[in-house]
Amino acid sequence: MEFTDLGLSEPILKALAAKKYANPTPIQQKAIPVLLEGKDLCGIAQTGTGKTAAFALPSLDYFARNPKPTPIKGCRMLVLSPTRELAAQIAQSFRDYGRFMRLSVETVFGGVPIGKQIRALSAGVDIVVATPGRLLDLIDQRAFTIKDTEIFVLDEADQMMDMGFIHPLRRVAKMLPTGRQNLFFSATMPKEIEALAAQFLNNPVKVSVAPQSTTAERVRQRMTFVNQAEKQALLHIVLKNEDIDRALIFTRTKHGADRVVRFLEGAGIDAFAIHGNKSQGQRTTALQAFRQGKVKLLVATDIAARGIDVSGVSHVINFEIPNVAEQYVHRIGRTARAGADGIAISFVADDERPYLKAIEKATRVKLEIEPLPENFLEAVRNLPKPAAPKKGPSQSPQQQAKRAEGQRRYQDGQKQQRGAPDRAHRADSEGGEKRPFNRRRKSGGVGAHKGAVQRTGAPR
Ligand code: AMP
Repeated sequence: MEFTDLGLSEPILKALAAKKYANPTPIQQKAIPVLLEGKDLCGIAQTGTGKTAAFALPSLDYFARNPKPTPIKGCRMLVLSPTRELAAQIAQSFRDYGRFMRLSVETVFGGVPIGKQIRALSAGVDIVVATPGRLLDLIDQRAFTIKDTEIFVLDEADQMMDMGFIHPLRRVAKMLPTGRQNLFFSATMPKEIEALAAQFLNNPVKVSVAPQSTTAERVRQRMTFVNQAEKQALLHIVLKNEDIDRALIFTRTKHGADRVVRFLEGAGIDAFAIHGNKSQGQRTTALQAFRQGKVKLLVATDIAARGIDVSGVSHVINFEIPNVAEQYVHRIGRTARAGADGIAISFVADDERPYLKAIEKATRVKLEIEPLPENFLEAVRNLPKPAAPKKGPSQSPQQQAKRAEGQRRYQDGQKQQRGAPDRAHRADSEGGEKRPFNRRRKSGGVGAHKGAVQRTGAPR
């Protein structure tokens, strides 16, 4: 099938030709005809399948056929994304595919000054791509309204839930007008996501391109058992031995990511980290450098990296194994995108074996076991020293101030409310907004306060 068979309007076909896209991907083949008819859609698809174009192209087609002035302080189309990076990427796709149309596209997310966004939205915009927290801030400040939305897209719904966005999403659902077209995408569709979908969708057509938890095809998946303390040495060898164009290295925690970068720096290897403690500027710089090939290694935590589409990622290295099997699928989906082959290498420590088991069960794939390399002991003995932590903040000044404020409050709270239940604000979202979202209680009580040091630092 070719794009010209789908009945898309001329400016869109022209933009696709400019991008040299001739054939729609499976999700595009299934979704575009349904969406062109104006129906609601529930799509199960991972990133890398072409799902952005699957919702962007028919929406642009709708705009081409139904020109209208933009509503004041409002938008005609709203796309919700869990992270800033993904929001920026989706907006870019709209600009690319809509380049022969006169449409306005704006992003709305935290970590950048709100004033600029207020100004950009004041006259109304055709397409807004937003993360939920900042969107609601703007609505609460009466700087923006979603009451005129004609097309609504919720992307990466399962990640939204993981990030604790359920309450913001429910609020958004209540504010949207009836009679709009709704699109809902998720990589997985467990019961609670279905329930969420039901709040947005109206008699949707369901399309699915990858059965739940199917590991990306074409990714060669290897693993090595290694002590946690010796993973840096193994990483050093792997980076030397593998033919790497571009690699994403995953850690479970933000500090873990910083430690890996410091180690690599000490070894004279350039790498950037991307995670929730980095300022928006740092994240954008890191991602751009990686995209442009200025730096070959990007060390990332799961949430910061999900949805990010960088072509030419030859390797995904799981420096630490994710404790949720789905996350593994998302990680390795960063490589082997759009037809390329990829390699995923996992470093499995003893205490990570249960996670590995869960991954192999969920994906029904046995990872190829590789022994430690021959020169491993020598590499451990001669391990380069990590670079000293940078004097400057790995956090932005605002984040530092918030953290200091949080620590002060925590200490005050410790004095006053021993044993009081933990007000579990959502931990730093990694993806964007620094607001408390779900009030899911974790363990409560004084014991839970280790995390609260960070959490209470996030003011409303
Ligand atoms: P997505 O799943 O939306 O993140 O898209 C994954 C990648 O595939 C992006 O780099 C897209 O630009 C690219 N892509 C999307 N649709 C097509 C297509 N029909 N032909 C070739 N590449 C595509």
